[in-house]
Formats: sequence, C-alpha cells, structure tokens
Amino acid sequence: MRTTARVVVIGGGVVGCSVLYHLTKKGWKDVMLLERDQLTSGSTWHAAGGFHTLNGDPNVAMLQSYTVGLYKELEEISGQSCGLHLSAGIMLADTPERMEFLKTTVAKGRYLGMHTEIISVQEAKKYFPLIDEKHFIGALLDPNEGHLDPSGTTYAYAKAAKLAGATIEVQTKVESLRQKPDGGWLVHTNKGVVECEHVVNAGGLWAREVGRMVGIELPVLAMEHMYLVTEEIPEIVAYNKEAGKEIGHVIDFGAECYLRQEGKGIVLGAYEKACVPWSPRNTPWTFGQELLAPDIDRIAPSLEVAFRHFPRLEHVGIKRIINGPFTFAPDGNPLVGPVQGRTNFWSACGVMAGFSQGGGVGLALSNWMVDGDPGFDIWGMDVARYGDWATRSYTNAKVRENYSRRFSIRFPNEELPAGRPLQTTPLYDTFLAQGAVMGDSWGMETPLWFAPAGEKAEDLVSFHRSNDFAAVKAECLAVREAVGVTEIANFAKYDITGAGAERWLLHLMANTMPAPGRIMLTPMLNHQGKIIGDFTLANAGDGRYMMWGSSQAQVYHMRWFEQHLPKDGSVRVAPLGMKRIGLSLAGPRSRELLQRLTDDDVSGEAFRFMDYREMEVATVRAKVNRITYTGDLGYEIWVAPEYQLRLYRSIMAAGADLGIRNFGMRALLCLRLEKNFGTWYREFRPIYGPFEAGLERFVKLDKTDFIGKAAALQEKAEGPKRTRIFMVVDALDSDVMGDEPIWVDGKVQGWVTSGGYGHYVQQSLAQGYIPTALLRDGVQLEVEILGERRPARLQMQPPLDPQALRMRM
Ligand SMILES: Cc1cc2nc3c(=O)[nH]c(=O)nc-3n(C[C@H](O)[C@H](O)[C@H](O)COP(=O)(O)OP(=O)(O)OC[C@H]3O[C@@H](n4cnc5c(N)ncnc54)[C@H](O)[C@@H]3O)c2cc1C
Repeated sequence: MRTTARVVVIGGGVVGCSVLYHLTKKGWKDVMLLERDQLTSGSTWHAAGGFHTLNGDPNVAMLQSYTVGLYKELEEISGQSCGLHLSAGIMLADTPERMEFLKTTVAKGRYLGMHTEIISVQEAKKYFPLIDEKHFIGALLDPNEGHLDPSGTTYAYAKAAKLAGATIEVQTKVESLRQKPDGGWLVHTNKGVVECEHVVNAGGLWAREVGRMVGIELPVLAMEHMYLVTEEIPEIVAYNKEAGKEIGHVIDFGAECYLRQEGKGIVLGAYEKACVPWSPRNTPWTFGQELLAPDIDRIAPSLEVAFRHFPRLEHVGIKRIINGPFTFAPDGNPLVGPVQGRTNFWSACGVMAGFSQGGGVGLALSNWMVDGDPGFDIWGMDVARYGDWATRSYTNAKVRENYSRRFSIRFPNEELPAGRPLQTTPLYDTFLAQGAVMGDSWGMETPLWFAPAGEKAEDLVSFHRSNDFAAVKAECLAVREAVGVTEIANFAKYDITGAGAERWLLHLMANTMPAPGRIMLTPMLNHQGKIIGDFTLANAGDGRYMMWGSSQAQVYHMRWFEQHLPKDGSVRVAPLGMKRIGLSLAGPRSRELLQRLTDDDVSGEAFRFMDYREMEVATVRAKVNRITYTGDLGYEIWVAPEYQLRLYRSIMAAGADLGIRNFGMRALLCLRLEKNFGTWYREFRPIYGPFEAGLERFVKLDKTDFIGKAAALQEKAEGPKRTRIFMVVDALDSDVMGDEPIWVDGKVQGWVTSGGYGHYVQQSLAQGYIPTALLRDGVQLEVEILGERRPARLQMQPPLDPQALRMRM
C-alpha cells in the first residue's frame, strides 16, 4: 500500500467514489480511497437505486440535476454500465393542498430549467397503469427520473477515478487519525499509516465514528428503511409490450410510498410514520453486507392505502423484502464541506439519496478542495449549517421527524415540533403567557407573532394567508404608528479585539470601518467577489469591535474567520452566542420610551442614527445601537441574559401609555420588506455579487486591498449581469413565499427571493433577481403563485419612506 497521498477519502460507497472521481477530474490525481470492506458495502449495495432531480432547496435540486446528467459521461469514461432506466417520474396528488404543493414545485423548477409539468390523472395513468383514478386529482410529471444499478454506478465512479490515476485500497480500515503540526494528517489503518494533506469523511453508516476520530459529533443518524419487490404483474408485462417502455417511477404522498418497475414486477418502498433508527449511538464495525430483519407491520398502514390506490397490488405475491439502514442529517440534506475547527478535514456524509445527490456532492466538494470554493450555492447542504446544539439526541428526534414526514407537505408557515424547545431566552415563558407563537431559529425559540387574548396561539398551516394575518398587521401598525418591542436574541454576535482587529476587518470586509462610537453595515465577499456575509459592525473604542450577523451562518462565518486570522494572535474573534441577547425598540415613540429608562441624552442630536453607545438602561449595563431592521426610528439594546427580564419589564411598564406592543419575527420581516431591505440567505447569498444585490454603496473600491476587491472591480467594470428588484404583486389571498419564477414579457427570466404582505403600505411585496438587460420602465412582470401568473409592478423605490427620514428622525 502507498504511504503518501494528497487526499485520503475514507469510504467506498457511492459518495466516496464520486468524491474520488471528481477530485481526479479537477486535476488532483494523487488521491487515495480507503475502504474497510469492499466497495458499496455500507448502505450503497442494497439501495433501491431511484434517482430524481426535485428537492425543496432549488440549489440542491440543481446539483441533483447535475448528478442525473452525469451518468452517461461516467459510463463512457469507465466502460462500466450504471444500469440506467430513465423511466420518468410521477407525483400523485390526492388532496387540494398536495396539488398546490405540486404547483409550487413545478414553478420552482422553471427557472432552474427543469421540465416538470402538471398533468391530469388520466395522463398519469399512461405512465403507471395500476392507478385507480378516483383517488387522485392531478399529478406532476418529471421526465428526468428513473432508477439505476447502485453497485454498477459506484464501480463506474471508481473505475473512472482509477483510470485518471486514483488509488483504491479495499479491506483497509481507518482506525485513527492524527493531525500533523503542518495541518496534514496521519491516517492509521490496519495495513499501516498513510500521510496526506487532506482527509475526506465519506464514511456513510460510520460517518459518526470517523468524525469522532477527530473529536467531533456529526449530526447524522441511520434509519431502517424497507422496500419490497413483487412477483411478476401481467398488466405490467402487457404495458411494457404495448408501450415499448417501462412503467414510470411513482410517488404516492397519500400512501407515503414510492413505486417503480423491477423486472416484471415492482419495487414498493415506504417512509413509515412508525420509523425506527438503527444503531442510534454507535455503528458496529462488524456490520457487513447484511440486511436487517423486515417488519412488514410497520409499513402496513402505507400498504393499506397503496392497495386502495393501486388495487392490483393487493393480489400480487411478494418476492422479497429489503430492510437496510441509511443515514440522514436532521433536515435530510447532506453534510458537505470543510469542518470548522479542523484543518483539512472534509465532510461528505449524511447523503440520504446517494444516486440523486452523490455526483453533486462530489463536484461541490472537489471544487471546494481544489479552488477554495464549492462553485455553487450549497448552503442547503453545508456541514456548517449546524452548530454544537445539534446533539446526538436532538439529531435523533429531528431525523425521525424528517423521515416520517418525507412525503408530507411542509407549509410555508409550518414550524416542526421535534427536539423543541431547545434553546430559550429568559423571556420564553413570559412570551408564551402573552400568546406568542414560537418558531425555531437555528435551535433557538423565537416569537413569530402574538395571538390576541382569547385566541389559540397556533398557526393554521396553509399556502394562503392564514390566521396570523390580522395579528401581524396589528403588530406592524403599532411599530409604524407608536412603538413596538421585539426580541433579537437570534443574531450571531461577535466581539473582535486585539491590536490587529481593525486591519484584519478592513481586509475581510468590503466597507471601511466605523469611527469610534459609530456603526457600519458591510458585506463580506469571497475571492470570487460573491456575498458570503452581511454584517453590522460597531466600533466600541479602544480597538474593540462588535459585530452582528446571521445566527444560521455563525459556524459558516467562524470557519471563514478562522481560516483568515493572522497566525501571530493579534486578532481575537469571540462568538458570543447566548452570552449577549437583545431587545429592539422600534417606532416613532421609541426615543421617548428609551429616554424614560436612561439618564443618558438620547435626543436626535446627542444619539444619532448609526451611533453606538454603552449606557445604563433600566439600571442595566447595555450596549445600544441606534439602528433597527424595521426602517423606523429605533434601537437595539444588548445586555447579558440575566438582565433581559428586568429590561423587558421596564420597557413594557414605561411604554404602556405610549402604546407599546410586542412584535414578532413575522412582523419584522414584513416591516423590512416595506423598506426593500434584503436579508442573508434570501437576497444575499454566495451566488450574487454586491452590485447585483444593490449593495454597491457598502463596497469601498478605493480602500486598500480586501478579499474580493479585484472581482468586485471587475463586476463593476462589466456591469452586473442581473439585478435585485423590488415588486408590488397583484396577489389574491396568497403572497409569494420565495423561489417563485418571475416572468418578463411572458418568459421565465428570474426568481423571487422573498416577499410577503406589507401591512402598513397595504400591498403584496416581493424581491427577486432578473437579468439587468431586462430592466426598463414599464416592463411587464408576472410572478407565479400557486400555478397562477399574477401581474407585478417593478418599483424603483421602496413604498415606505424612500428618503429614509423615519430612521433618521
Ligand atoms: C433500503 C434502502 C433503499 C435505498 N434506496 C435509495 C434510492 O432509491 N435512491 C437513492 O438515491 N438512495 C437510496 N438509498 C440511500 C443510499 O443507499 C445512500 O444514500 C448511499 O448509499 C450513501 O452512500 P455513502 O457512500 O454515503 O455511504 P455508504 O454506502 O454507507 O458507504 C460508506 C463506506 O465507508 C466505509 N467506511 C466507513 N468507515 C470506514 C473506515 N473507518 N475505514 C474505511 N472504510 C470505512 C464503509 O465500509 C462503506 O463502504 C437507499 C438506502 C436503503 C437502505
């Protein structure tokens, strides 16, 4: 066995082999894969082999599309058949809500260039003749679906990688990993030690164990999964003969199962509600190419419905039942990328749909390793989207929830309950007592809206405006007309100190740094000049900086900060988590209220817009920013958590006669929309440049060098290819949810990033991107909402306070 390699990939399942192949394709030939048994011997060998391009996250869907398109190339290069059957896929709707879901799915696929369409049940039957039509009301057709041979496909990746120079060692178990002082690794195996620069964890069922070798607990859990294979079905044989093709792949949401042809019968797999994790703490190293004992009772409820929906199945013999384990992350998407805090250690695990996603995972990871960037927006599968709060038992609860809901609708206003409440602030019970409906924000409970007294505090889930509408409106109006208070604990907060802090921030951020006592907004760019962060920075004096960003992106950002920290220790970045939490006051009477709680002068002249001040508020030491996300006069007040309750009570008491009211996250998001403020992960993502996103005034191209400056200069010189736009939509009773296509002059040209109802301006609002070349006065826009193209008007100015006078009051 070789004793050195540039990269060691641990695991010879479909994912590890794909990573190996893609690394060679990127030009890294000195790469080695170590497999403790034979290739495919984890979860890969017993997969049902289905593949599809659809995914709730459009960016993950794009990588799935790439995977499906790759197989032909792979067969050509390797000479190994993947056993492809491109049979087309049908998703069957048995309720109006499911039909609405399918319409939104088709719409999302449009701007990605996916050719899905809504078809009638009669049409669907032409692809799957066993359907009893009376149970369904419509269907979605995806021509780009099918199934393949899992083993053939894995070997095709492996052969293609070997042909390009990669090495594969089977029967080679990685037993431990030791980091070298230079950041490289010593990989200890049962056959000796391999020295390498990078390690990739593609351990599949053993990904947790491989993670533990470097001291991390990955949020991954294996679940048992069953599918059965039937005897021959004469109707299928007849169909094959007559139509000259296979029957299509079917998802029946009502029965929570999938079906496809296998030989002359079918495969039927179910995602049962009574699902069972496999080896919840440790995966035994002795587990080989084995199956688990089937438990048909567990999927009996699915079979009962399936027998009604496809009556012929009730009378068909079952040839065999497969029960095998495979892994999931809490949200069901892969965990890919460099692991924060571990140099040169990469994750390629939690891949629950290896044959839809394996290619995309390999492509993104190899881009990342070779170029320093995944090359796509892969936030939806970045390993950094989970923090250390995603413990083993949290993961267990969420994975079971996700598995059991695999074929359930997720409504846009639906919050899922498993593993909650996890993190709470001191005000949690106080808010609940006042009717707060809570949401899960990166593991933290956050008030979404407040139900009026006497009304049940819960969301009625829907694709349409729902029972929160009137309450959110009242909250918005209170802010615009008087004063509101909201909790803002769910931000990432960082203290940045040290002699080199300012120099470092200037290098990392696109804007200049604020003067002492002042605040600045700044994008952070990657080397390609794309937006990877959007921060508020305050200069607290004495070389201390405070910074606020998206809580969801805290690990993502810390990973970037750590990669770029000077080695001499002259800069320290401390993520504060729950050590500093906040309340925000917003509205025209917020100054009056704040003044009642402090003896500092907070007049407009003494405490100006974008000032930062340390002061006592309600006897509590506080750090106060004169800024809010609402577009109104307002303040963010940050305190240690033990003082939050006192601060809140004082605010409510002092504001009673000013009309103070709680407002939640939903009102905050509506309020920022009325000002056309963008938000991280929707309007600001690593696929957009700052000029495209309308952030040019925060990018100082005349300051000394900063990361992304050259690319930003180029973007400016060439002009942005697309532009963030703001629209007023002629909506009915549903507002945009995000990811809807934008039609320009009757053609899909862009997409919505976010939107909703602006209660103060009484308009349905949306933000999105279209090609810059199409921006012109009077351009005809339409936004597709629930299958209907609704007219939309381009707005060059936000409907609320375009001169920004309210914030500066
Ligand atoms: C019943 C069933 C049906 C399925 N149907 C489908 C389907 O229709 N479509 C689809 O896309 N997916 C399906 N899947 C899921 C699919 O199997 C997985 O997504 C895929 O196998 C994941 O591949 P992987 O490479 O990540 O993991 P694995 O296949 O588990 O591979 C990991 C490999 O790493 C090796 N390894 C681990 N630790 C070490 C170590 N320390 N040293 C050396 N080697 C190590 C293991 O031996 C193993 O071979 C199904 C799964 C099951 C169980």
